Amino acid sequence: MNPSTATSAPIIVRMPPSPTGPLHLGTARTALFNWLFKTKNNGQMIFRWEDTDQERSKTEFETTILDGLTWLGMDFMATSTFYRQTENLATHKQYRHNLWTERKIFPCFASKETIQSMRDAANQARQGFVFWSPDRDLDPTEADTKIAAGEHHVWRFKTPKKQTITMQDVIRGTIEVQSNTIGDFAVARSDGSVLYMLANVIDDATQGVTHVIRGEDHISNTPKQILVYGALGFAEPTFAHIPLVLDKSRKKLSKRNVDPNVCVLIPDFQKAGFLPEAVVNGLAFLGWNPGTTEEIFSLEELGNIFTLEKVNTAPAQYDFDKMVWFNSQWMRSLPVEKIQQYYQEFSGKTIEVSAIAVAREKAKTLVELSNELEYLIGDPGFNAERIFHKKMCPTPADAKKILSEILPMIEGIDEADFDEDTLKSVSVTKIAELGLKNGPFLWPFRVALSNRPGSAGPFSIGAVIGKAATIKRLQRAITLL
Ligand code: GLU
Repeated sequence: MNPSTATSAPIIVRMPPSPTGPLHLGTARTALFNWLFKTKNNGQMIFRWEDTDQERSKTEFETTILDGLTWLGMDFMATSTFYRQTENLATHKQYRHNLWTERKIFPCFASKETIQSMRDAANQARQGFVFWSPDRDLDPTEADTKIAAGEHHVWRFKTPKKQTITMQDVIRGTIEVQSNTIGDFAVARSDGSVLYMLANVIDDATQGVTHVIRGEDHISNTPKQILVYGALGFAEPTFAHIPLVLDKSRKKLSKRNVDPNVCVLIPDFQKAGFLPEAVVNGLAFLGWNPGTTEEIFSLEELGNIFTLEKVNTAPAQYDFDKMVWFNSQWMRSLPVEKIQQYYQEFSGKTIEVSAIAVAREKAKTLVELSNELEYLIGDPGFNAERIFHKKMCPTPADAKKILSEILPMIEGIDEADFDEDTLKSVSVTKIAELGLKNGPFLWPFRVALSNRPGSAGPFSIGAVIGKAATIKRLQRAITLL
């Protein structure tokens, strides 16, 4: 039976970021997969700040992580039970103490230098290095005496030798790991403060987590954590490790290694004028697919269809151009009022929907939208040389001649009928009357209005800027030619 559907008790997933940096798309994708799995299965979400690294944990990172997730449409604040790992220190210490009493962990007094020389010796002998502490069988009374005397130590798990550890992963299937490849791993510091490997398990278990869905970079921690679950007498959760996200050169995606224009952090997407719908859509496809050719999905739709079984085992190749493609699709398909609102949040400017509707046709991002809006909400001026085109409009005389035909045509349209359809129909008639092809008529018309080699068409521009501004721009072009 499939482990993700076998449980009848409520599903509890968790999102436990360490607030040590801004929100990376890999973390956002982990959050998304947890969110979708929870939504699909009517589960619950635990959000836990893993903030025990006091030096690197910063409240400003907590703010940007939560803001980024909320921007993506996942309001963890409103929908999760919140925990903070540093608030559980006493519980961690208690469990650590119990494990020592039961001799499942031990204080290891080996210095870093000693361990390093053991590693060097193994390397020289061309053997893989696994650390088995010389103190794992130290007499407990002697160990306590050394601790009382203030000898530096690290608490290590007493890993059983020659044991096969079996992991069941919803995505990757059954994985067997030999304990002899693991050795005695660290679980707490000298002062008794507990490290990730133990704290994470204690918190997940005591907070009732049923499903651990996390990045594949944690897969090597899982056999160790399975040993820890067993030692603590806790039932193991269901594990699902989602594939790594690689960059173009197939290295683990990191902001440091990619072109500065490629967005990796969620704030990068915000600054570059992405829509949250598009980022969510793109993130979902990093390692998952619906099993059909359909590509456009909202967060809500994803929450109805997401299954862990459709998550790939192969690493996900991050393609920023594909993210831009998703964005261009959402720019065009969202209600225009929604784009207006996003643009307002992005730029602080409230723009009429008629202008947004035209500008978004050519804009892949809100930055490009802003650029398109320049000739729709303001006067772009006129540079005569922009109107010339080898085929469509070779000389000033050609341009002047056509524009002088267009001007009275525009003047003749009733103010009340001045819309895209009317502009189109009068133009079609005029083109026929002049015996022209579309290009030589539309090109100078469009450039006179937009002052750009590439822009929306003249009918849509005219309809947005209105009759008076259309006339003014045509007259100016005729004068300056
Ligand atoms: N705090 C850990 C991290 O951010 C959590 C890892 C886990 O999901 O177990 O990588």
